[in-house]
Amino acid sequence: MAIGFETTTPATAVAIEQAQALKLQNFSVLCNHVLTPAAMRALLAGPEPLLVDGFLGPSHVSTIIGSQPYQNLAERYLKPIVIAGFEPLDVLQSVWMLLKQLNAAQHQVENQYSRAVTVTGNLKAQALIARYFETRSSFEWRGLGQIAHSGLKLKAEYALFDAEQRFNIPLRPTTEVKACECPAILRGAKKPQDCRLLGTVCTPENPVGSCMVSSEGACAAYWRYRRSRT
Ligand code: SF4
Repeated sequence: MAIGFETTTPATAVAIEQAQALKLQNFSVLCNHVLTPAAMRALLAGPEPLLVDGFLGPSHVSTIIGSQPYQNLAERYLKPIVIAGFEPLDVLQSVWMLLKQLNAAQHQVENQYSRAVTVTGNLKAQALIARYFETRSSFEWRGLGQIAHSGLKLKAEYALFDAEQRFNIPLRPTTEVKACECPAILRGAKKPQDCRLLGTVCTPENPVGSCMVSSEGACAAYWRYRRSRT
């Protein structure tokens, strides 16, 4: 099961490379790797309004893809983007950098996480990804729906390692819980506490929507750092 953003895709590519070198016949990958800039573009392009002033760019993803892919998004949609590290001071400094841009009515890509992220990213990892994967015409994201060119699949020449082809596994549409407010939260239109399922039905142990699944999700963070812990 190969899941994750650009951060985890190179590891899957290495696994396939290894399987190929060992001529393994019993190794295959169900590819669900996704692309960050495509999802950001979908949010920015609408049709629903995006109530977000700027973006903290993802640190690990950006170590792979670099800061360049965000350039066009910042310029076209007039939103500042600051690639942020993971430590508390990284996040604080990145928010400060975003605020400075917003106060100056700027919309640039800045790289706070310069100790790990470069403009062009990890070229070796990018070459590995390009060797084994190609972009799907569309991919369904939880909370966001279908997004064009936002997911990866294995290239036809590596069908032997592609579980989707080998075992004829179709991509099935997902069913979202109607009361889950993730679509609005992801657009900045609502906050996690606006969801009546937060902390009652939906918890990190029993996540209902995508914003609770990962510890980095907005709902998971709101629940973890809530003030009242009764
Ligand atoms: S608390 Fe759960 S159900 Fe509500 S919006 Fe967040 S992820 Fe969805």
